[in-house]
Amino acid sequence: MGVPSDDVTCAGCGRVGTAAEATLGWSFDVPPRPTGSTEPSRSGEGTYLCPECTRRMVRDVEARLDL
Ligand SMILES: [Zn+2]
Repeated sequence: MGVPSDDVTCAGCGRVGTAAEATLGWSFDVPPRPTGSTEPSRSGEGTYLCPECTRRMVRDVEARLDL
């Protein structure tokens, strides 16, 4: 209907959130590009994680650091 979709999809669980939700607790992760890569950078590249998956990831990282 002429309205651009700003919905984002969680890379962890596949859940879809609105752009408004994405600004509230969702994390955006841009994958590092190899140095010297000539690949064009596409806008919107990167992955979103919903708050729940973000928390799970943080716990996962912290658990590993505690080893
Ligand atoms: Zn998720």
